Amino acid sequence: MRLTTIYRKLLDAHGPMHWWPARTRFEIIVGAVLTQNTSWKNVQKAISNLRREKVLTINKLSGLGESTLAALIKPAGYYNLKARRLLNAVHWWRDNHRNLKDMDTMEIRGKLLAVNGIGPETADSILLYALGRPVFVIDAYTRRILFRLDMGPWDGSYDELRAFFEKRLPSDVGLYNDFHAQLVNLGNNVCRVKPLCSLCPFNNVCPSRKRERN
Ligand code: SF4
Repeated sequence: MRLTTIYRKLLDAHGPMHWWPARTRFEIIVGAVLTQNTSWKNVQKAISNLRREKVLTINKLSGLGESTLAALIKPAGYYNLKARRLLNAVHWWRDNHRNLKDMDTMEIRGKLLAVNGIGPETADSILLYALGRPVFVIDAYTRRILFRLDMGPWDGSYDELRAFFEKRLPSDVGLYNDFHAQLVNLGNNVCRVKPLCSLCPFNNVCPSRKRERN
């Protein structure tokens, strides 16, 4: 199956995802760090705490102490580690966001990856969703779905998988945005660890599903 066919089937089945659910680019940065190793539901609780305390701004958040921030983001898990990582990301954004407009995408990516606590998935989420750069975001859901559909280098490195998508799709921010969100939605709700194949648009063509039936 071609990647464009997969996307079309997902779009037809579930409609556009309208991801990322944030009010500002800064909120995307915050969410991209908080979502590491946890569900979006938990991230929303942490962001609600920040909003309730009126600290969801660059100046307010970057001025918070690590322990104060950790207490506020507790629902997102790994809160001490994430407080440190979030402050690193917020400080980076505060110091750099005005200078990114004319910078090459891979140059920004390199700078993001140099921030302690920002790995490839977080960096690419920021690039795609906050900065509108055509970078395909890879996550655990993407690997699982590719594995089950028997497609691509599902067990390859992060960059191999990213290149697999980027070489086969037009360089289109809107497409990358919604395609990644569709994969997250499928992995979260249908192609789970215990898959709900009867609800899946690939039910009749999925090799993993066929193996299970035989
Ligand atoms: S048919 Fe089942 S295993 Fe295959 S992609 Fe869909 S949910 Fe996953």
